[in-house]
Amino acid sequence: MKVPLLDLTAQYASIRDEIDTAMAEVVTSQRFILGAAVEACEDAIARYVGSDHAIGVSSGTDALLVALMAEGIGPGDEVVTTPYSFFATAGVIARVGATPVFADIDPVTLNLDPARVADSVTKRTRAVIPVHLFGQMAEMAPIMEIARSRGLAVIEDAAQAIGAEHGGRRAGSIGDYGCFSFFPSKNLGCFGDGGMVVTNDAARADRVRALRVHGEDVKYHHRIVGGNFRLDALQAAVVRAKLPHLDGWIDARRANAALYSRLLGDLADREPPLLTLPGIVTDRHVFNQYAVRVTDRDRVREELAAAGIGTAVYYPRPLHLQECLAALGYRRGDLPESERAADRAIALPIYPELTTGQIRTVADALRGALAGLA
Ligand SMILES: *Cc1c(COP(=O)(O)O)cnc(C)c1O
Repeated sequence: MKVPLLDLTAQYASIRDEIDTAMAEVVTSQRFILGAAVEACEDAIARYVGSDHAIGVSSGTDALLVALMAEGIGPGDEVVTTPYSFFATAGVIARVGATPVFADIDPVTLNLDPARVADSVTKRTRAVIPVHLFGQMAEMAPIMEIARSRGLAVIEDAAQAIGAEHGGRRAGSIGDYGCFSFFPSKNLGCFGDGGMVVTNDAARADRVRALRVHGEDVKYHHRIVGGNFRLDALQAAVVRAKLPHLDGWIDARRANAALYSRLLGDLADREPPLLTLPGIVTDRHVFNQYAVRVTDRDRVREELAAAGIGTAVYYPRPLHLQECLAALGYRRGDLPESERAADRAIALPIYPELTTGQIRTVADALRGALAGLA
């Protein structure tokens, strides 16, 4: 039995009519740029996340970029974030001319360690970007406390975490901005690139809305320098059509994760443990990825691949050790928890349409690979 890491065709097949109808409406209207489809998507996402305003943008990366631009962050400013994330999280900080400052992660959740964030704040710090990695919210309460006491903006990178929840609040609704991605492999994916910024602050929403159309207020009158950061109407229609299914997909991902944890729990409880399971400390982890940690990752991946099982490594090189950021001066050993996670994490198939049989196949193959190493 083959088990791919992700199979998007299964999901499309299950809601094909709804999606095709939504896309056909846009094509019939020939309104491809902003307009009713984008507005309907924005309203639905704002309601789902629990934020007052939502602004559709061209990608998750551009959502983060436009939030930094809206805060006026640039040269001379520092932004604290995690080194254990997709490159975009730090790339956008460098792109506006500011300096990424990396704080290490908590080894249980792999999210930013609030104590390390507090240690990293200087007079130049303007913002913090917590990432809700793999679909579990970062520890927002202490991060918000640090940010509020120092006057910092908080930009949540919720690209992997739409629908994640803790203490009755959803990912993206707590900071000054929440940034989402609709990249096809995210839990709510469109048919290309797309993203969304949410905020509870009307003035910030207004700036983001202007920035996505070249800083334009009135047609051809530019208040600030922005860019073309618009969400396509076709992509908005896909997102809007998929949204009513998201909670069901999240429930399926959570059930799949619970089954893995039950099937593999004894290996994690052994002394010494053969693997580390995801550390779940929040109310609703949405499992965009289910990443376990093992010591001999390459061997384990090879054995799983030989058994027809797809895996991936998110992320093999932490951001402070990326070549393009070498001028920041970080060295291996500076952020040991992030480096350890980057060396050991391996993502298993977790998508909603997996069968129980497929999950058992993956768990058995992983058990076999680990037994071979023990
Ligand atoms: C996917 C992702 C992004 C970027 O989103 P795109 O839509 O691909 O630009 C940013 N941050 C994280 C954590 C992501 O997983």
